[in-house]
Amino acid sequence: MIVLKGAPVSQKIQTEIESELSLWKSQGMQLPHLSVILVGTNPASEIYVKRKQEMCKKLGFSSEVIKLGEETTESEIQKIILNLNQNLKVDGILVQLPLPNHINARNVLESIDAGKDVDCLTEKNLGKLLTDRAIIKPCTPSGIIEMFKFYGIELRGKNIAVIGRSLIVGTPLMHLLLKENASVSIFHSKSENISQQLKNFDIVCVAVGKANIFKYSEFKKDAVIIDVGMNRSPDGLIGDVLNDSDSTPNQIKAATPVPGGVGLMTIAMLMKNTLTLAALHRKQAL
Ligand code: NAP
Repeated sequence: MIVLKGAPVSQKIQTEIESELSLWKSQGMQLPHLSVILVGTNPASEIYVKRKQEMCKKLGFSSEVIKLGEETTESEIQKIILNLNQNLKVDGILVQLPLPNHINARNVLESIDAGKDVDCLTEKNLGKLLTDRAIIKPCTPSGIIEMFKFYGIELRGKNIAVIGRSLIVGTPLMHLLLKENASVSIFHSKSENISQQLKNFDIVCVAVGKANIFKYSEFKKDAVIIDVGMNRSPDGLIGDVLNDSDSTPNQIKAATPVPGGVGLMTIAMLMKNTLTLAALHRKQAL
């Protein structure tokens, strides 16, 4: 089985960003700036935000994390976002999800200026994605497409299942796969008999958020598995798909590991999107 590691793909994107930024530096241009809003003390979110900050530092972006208490209200967050929208220094705004239950995440996301919506989550940018007018694409789904390209996995004409239909992963991923001319089936919590259907698919992307809900032996022989799930367990971070290849060796052709797979791509694409928006802002400022 081939392990589809995120690191080399992420490195390729980082190298491209670094070479673009060295041009920016030589021309004295203001480097990209990402603002991240973190509400509450969700330990997983804190770790993800820290990784994003570390990557900003590594690439030379400026960044800030605005940490807000669990009890912060929706309108307080929106006020902060409005200030960031107006701040010419800020190129990208990311609200780390999930937000505490008393906050309507959709209302918060909609207050982000579409030109700074670095994960393509506003209605305006999601609409542009559907009509092929998006300047940037959602980080995790576009990171998965980058992985397919890097590893030479053909998508055209393939039968692909996407399990999970969130606006952050499953639904935009379905759209990006359709754009690559795959035939896509989407499954969710109300879908019946998913396990019995898994053997119909050449590629399966699982974005459910339930540890080990599926296992390699359930998939078609030579299938490619993209495991987006990130679940905390006493053994550390684990995916949605259990690697039972000890009992059924050679069942699947390739799979992404957790950790070390899609998660690395999400961060790389976040950096790429921030750079793209920053380039647009510098052009608009001329
Ligand atoms: P989400 O918003 O909770 O969506 C989960 C999706 O899974 C929903 O569409 C839900 O269906 C579906 N689902 C739930 N139980 C199911 C079941 N038994 N069978 C089939 N479908 C089921 O989660 P998300 O934000 O998309 O994230 C999914 C996972 O990916 C999480 O573990 C998250 O941490 C991880 N993630 C990883 C990255 C990364 O960089 N690797 C990035 C983002 C998210 P309904 O729509 O019917 O409720």
